[in-house]
Amino acid sequence: MEPEGGGCYPRRMTSSISPVGEQARMAGGKPALALYLHIPFCSSKCGYCDFNSYEGLEHLVPEYTPALINELRLWSPAARAYHVDTVFFGGGTPSLTTLDDMSAIIAAVRDQYDIATDAEWTLEANPTELTRDHLEGLRALGINRLSMGVQSMRQAELELLEREHTPERVVQAVQDARAAGFDNMNLDLIFGLIGQRTEEWQESLERVLQFHPEHLSCYALTVEPGTALYYRVQKGQLPDPDPDVAAEEYEWTRERLAHAGYQQYEISNWAQPGRACRHNLVYWRAEPYLGFGAGAHSFFAGQRFANVDAPNRYEEAIAATVEARETTGSAAMQQIAGGETPDDATQQADTMILGLRLMEGVDLDGFAARFGVRAERAFADAIAKHTRLGLIEVVDGRLRLTSRGLLLSNEVFVDLLPDPPEE
Ligand code: SF4
Repeated sequence: MEPEGGGCYPRRMTSSISPVGEQARMAGGKPALALYLHIPFCSSKCGYCDFNSYEGLEHLVPEYTPALINELRLWSPAARAYHVDTVFFGGGTPSLTTLDDMSAIIAAVRDQYDIATDAEWTLEANPTELTRDHLEGLRALGINRLSMGVQSMRQAELELLEREHTPERVVQAVQDARAAGFDNMNLDLIFGLIGQRTEEWQESLERVLQFHPEHLSCYALTVEPGTALYYRVQKGQLPDPDPDVAAEEYEWTRERLAHAGYQQYEISNWAQPGRACRHNLVYWRAEPYLGFGAGAHSFFAGQRFANVDAPNRYEEAIAATVEARETTGSAAMQQIAGGETPDDATQQADTMILGLRLMEGVDLDGFAARFGVRAERAFADAIAKHTRLGLIEVVDGRLRLTSRGLLLSNEVFVDLLPDPPEE
């Protein structure tokens, strides 16, 4: 999963920024840091997908790994003050990367960064191409958590989503992953599909529960502008998803997974005890992370920034940055497309919106200690309104969404956004 970025204001970044600004969490005696590495290539583009991922760019793959390794080197001096305790390979389809390339990238991460011995190393995988040999190779390289894009266990729904795999392929991939030694697995599912009946969603989830995954991510389908699915809906070839069915399925999912022993720790994420995704918690707790690769976002040293999306432009920019560093000593990071230093109001809003996604909610005393103002005061109107509507509540000093608020979270979040700057 790639972190969503805020607004982008073009600004030249350098690697000489110092570590200040984010929510501090200590690891190994230093501030903790998460690393995200983006692999943007896919064997085909799924109809609903609006991630920064591309099919048909195989010719760019050979230069991508060296670019990623160079970018790891470029940032490592600035990251020396941090202890890295999560590394996440997202995409795209990281499981398409050859084992030789994965080995080189992981070696660069270990060489260049201070990595915790118990770090979480996650890799996103597509069931389509996963083989037992590849899985064993990944495990041997130190990947200790696998996140598989299952989406549905019904063939017709996989075809609607334009996924290439079948339910049988998922069964085989999960069995192979277990046999290869993966004992920490997330499976991604999508509910609220167009034309889906609640019983059909229940069938998919029940089949997936038979795998006893340690973690489940269940997202409602959203029809994102620019996707193939969006144009099919716009042209009237498909109806819009039914939000009432999605709400009913979500409610059922919460009850069913609680009954099966999973703890819901975020709006769309459930885990067996102790198996929450440590990497994604970094995003939701507004802690620092560095992103590498095409389109990767970062929140580092109090600044938010994002790399150029297009893989060819990313590769060219990294090569230019390395060359400029060697010839002129310039520290400018040319792969960065834009960024911002969020002001206090933006950071407070981020902390509220991201924190409310978590079941633990926002620690009100912690908020006051960090920002020097109480959330109850900074967001007085929004908190009063949504408490009155029964969408949020304070429990043991933490502000959190109610069960009803989980269904209507966007209505709360929109009222927490900072006012736009005056013209
Ligand atoms: S495999 Fe994942 S990243 Fe690639 S196109 Fe499909 S949904 Fe998008």
